[in-house]
Amino acid sequence: MNFLDKWLHIIRSCSYDNTYKMSWAKAITEIAVEYDTTLTWKVSDLIEIQLEDLAKRVLRYYFEQTLFFDLKQSSNPVKPPVVVSIVKSLIKTYQDNTTIMKPVKWYKSNIESLCKLEYEKAIRDIVKALKTDVSYRFLRIEGKEIEGIYQYEQKANSLFISVESLLILKKNSLVVFDAINYRWTQMLENFNTSPRLSKKVRIIDEDQIRRKPLGKFSSYIKLENPGCLCFLCGKTIDSETPTIDHVIPWSYLYSDDLWNLVFAHQTCNSSKSNVIASEEMIQRLETRNKLLLNLMEQQGKLDKHVSELQIAIDNNLVRKFWVSCQG
Ligand SMILES: [Zn+2]
Repeated sequence: MNFLDKWLHIIRSCSYDNTYKMSWAKAITEIAVEYDTTLTWKVSDLIEIQLEDLAKRVLRYYFEQTLFFDLKQSSNPVKPPVVVSIVKSLIKTYQDNTTIMKPVKWYKSNIESLCKLEYEKAIRDIVKALKTDVSYRFLRIEGKEIEGIYQYEQKANSLFISVESLLILKKNSLVVFDAINYRWTQMLENFNTSPRLSKKVRIIDEDQIRRKPLGKFSSYIKLENPGCLCFLCGKTIDSETPTIDHVIPWSYLYSDDLWNLVFAHQTCNSSKSNVIASEEMIQRLETRNKLLLNLMEQQGKLDKHVSELQIAIDNNLVRKFWVSCQG
């Protein structure tokens, strides 16, 4: 097998315990993509990669997957993998220090300087975890070591990979990233019930997560709620534009659907953040949806929002997603 075949073989065959190996493979591939080919080298030269550099990337992947979607990364729901616990505690510090509760992309978070000490500690701890759990295990498939990938001495702070291998990864990076993201998604399907996992995995490769404007839903919501009552506190929203709130968290659904959208005060909406709705709220939303559908039909509206609302009611989507997002 050539290097690329072996690399893809490792990705496709690795076991389903947790997603560490995918983050590791992704980090090394990213370094290959960034490798400056204008440097002078022989293909047989060895390039040193610091585990610290890999840890910083691994931290970023888990930071975003956790902050935006709270994805579970192992089969044990009670005890998350060490790296995820480290990331969660860093997120907590970040939110406590900045009071920014809304998810933010890593590059915009400025966490490296805002939480300098905690960030540095997190990197040290992730390096430790990578040493014990990933660096050499990555090369083992069903008890056998795959040779010719990289050189790593147990407990060392860096690994060595040939320029030739880096160039192969760089040249084939699209295929390699696809393979990693696909396997990562397959794993997450075993640990998570939330929909759109492949989109959630892919999104961390993009510069920003675009949250679409919800204004177009306003006129529909208003049909059933002309007095603009806040869904969360029940009072009239009179001195501000109502915000549009996802009853089942956006982080879970990763989608904007009329059946899940209501008016709320800005303050009520932001203080709630990603808290799971109560059963009473779910009942109110179900009732609202039926009333809204009736009103839309009476007014002769025939667009896709009507059919989507109908499908949501027929299939009990509110309740189904509400139940599964608690699991
Ligand atoms: Zn309110």
